[in-house]
Amino acid sequence: MAKTSDQYDVVIVGGGLSGLSLACLLGENEGLRIACLDREDPQKQIANDERTTAISYGSSLILERAGVWDTMLPHACPIDDIEILDSGSPVLLEFLSREVEGKSFGWILHNAHIRRTLVDKVKSLKNVDHIAPAQVSDFIAPETPDDDVQAILADGRRLSARLIVGADGRGSFVRHWLDIPSRRWSYGQRAVICNVAHANPHGNKAVEHFWPEGPFAVLPMTDDAQGRHRSGLVFTEHGPEKKSLMRLNDADFEAAVAEKFPLEYGKIEIAGPRQCYPLGLIHASRYIGPRMALVADAAHGIHPIAGQGLNLGFRDLGELGRLIGDAAEDGTDPGSPALLETYLRRRRPDNMAMIAVTDGFVRLFSNGVLPIGLARRAGLRAVSRLPAAKRFFMRHAMGE
Ligand SMILES: Cc1cc2nc3c(=O)[nH]c(=O)nc-3n(C[C@H](O)[C@H](O)[C@H](O)COP(=O)(O)OP(=O)(O)OC[C@H]3O[C@@H](n4cnc5c(N)ncnc54)[C@H](O)[C@@H]3O)c2cc1C
Repeated sequence: MAKTSDQYDVVIVGGGLSGLSLACLLGENEGLRIACLDREDPQKQIANDERTTAISYGSSLILERAGVWDTMLPHACPIDDIEILDSGSPVLLEFLSREVEGKSFGWILHNAHIRRTLVDKVKSLKNVDHIAPAQVSDFIAPETPDDDVQAILADGRRLSARLIVGADGRGSFVRHWLDIPSRRWSYGQRAVICNVAHANPHGNKAVEHFWPEGPFAVLPMTDDAQGRHRSGLVFTEHGPEKKSLMRLNDADFEAAVAEKFPLEYGKIEIAGPRQCYPLGLIHASRYIGPRMALVADAAHGIHPIAGQGLNLGFRDLGELGRLIGDAAEDGTDPGSPALLETYLRRRRPDNMAMIAVTDGFVRLFSNGVLPIGLARRAGLRAVSRLPAAKRFFMRHAMGE
C-alpha cells in the first residue's frame, strides 16, 4: 500500500542516543519509512550534554550496522587498560587488553560527538524524517489487529505507523500510556560529571576508584582541539543536596577533584561545565503493547557503575532492528504480536541479568562496613589471580 506523508512503518518516540541510533539502523533499509520524534531541539541537546559514554565492542558492531561507526571512530578514545581501586587502597585489579588478544575493551566518546554523528546521518537518509522539536502527547490504539497505531503530537499532527517504539528515556511517556508498571529505586547517589584536562597523557587507561559514597571514574578521551590531554570524570556523591559538589565554586570543586584524581596524570584543570544526574534503577515489567515496544532507558535504566546503560540499550536496538529488517524482507508485519513477543523473549533475560549484576556491584562497592570492605578486597584480589575469571569479566565488559 502506498504511504501518505504521515504514514510510517516505524515511528520512534524519543531522539536521544538510542532513538537516533535505531532510526539510523532501520534507515539503512530503504524499503522502510521511519520517523524519529523528539520534544527537544537536537542542536540544543548536542550543546548541552557534557557526558562521555563508554561504547563496548558489541555496541560498535551495531553502530557499524547503522552506518555511523566510521564517522565516530576518529573521536573515540580506545580503552586499553582498566584499573580498579578500593577506598584509598593501591590498585587491586587491573584488566589489560593484551590479555584478550589486544582488542580494546571499548571506546570513550563525548556524547556531543555521538549525537552529532547520529543527527547528521538521519538527515542524510531520505526514508527517515527527524521531527524535532515535537512532543508526543497521546496515541490511538489499533481497533482491529490490522489497524495502524497513531501518535498524536502536541500541535495536533497525527502520524500513523505499523509499530511505535518508545525510546523516550526513564520517564517514558510511552510506558506510562501503556500502563506498564516498573520496578524502581533510588541509590541515594548523584553522578557529578565534567571533563578534566591534565598535564600527562592517560595512556588509554580507565580508572575506577570505589569509595563508600560511590565510584570516582576517570575515563580517557581524545585530546581536545588545543592538544590538551583530557579525561571524562564521573564523581559520585551522596548525602544532602545542599552539600553537593554542584554547590562549590570552581576553585573548590577543582581542589575536590584534584584530591581524588590519580597523581600520575599531573596537574589537572576542569575543562567544561559540571552536570549532575540522580542515580537509580528502573525496570519495566513488560516491554511491549499492541503495536508498541520499549527500548533502552524507557525499558531499563541502570547505575553507570559499569558504563553499561546505553550498551544494554544498544542490544535491544540490535535485536529489534534485526526482527524488523527480517519482516521487511519477508513482506510481513513489523508490529505483529509474534514479532513483539520474540523481541521481549530475547531481550528480557539479558537485561535482567545485567540489572542484577550492576545492582549487586553498587551495593557491594558503596558499602563502608568493615567486614564487607575486607571481603570485597579479598574478592578483587582473588579475581586478579584467576586468569579465567578475569577473561570472563573482560569479555563481558566488551559486550561480546
Ligand atoms: C553519569 C552517567 C554516565 C553514563 N555513562 C554511560 C557509559 O559510559 N556507557 C553506557 O553504555 N551508558 C552510560 N550511561 C547511560 C546512558 O547515558 C543512557 O543509557 C542513555 O543516555 C539512554 O539513552 P536513551 O536514548 O534511551 O534515553 P534519553 O537519553 O533519556 O532520551 C530520551 C529522549 O526522549 C525524548 N522524549 C521524552 N518524552 C518525549 C515525548 N513525549 N515526545 C517526544 N520526545 C520525548 C527526550 O527529549 C529525550 O531526548 C550513563 C548515564 C549517566 C547518568
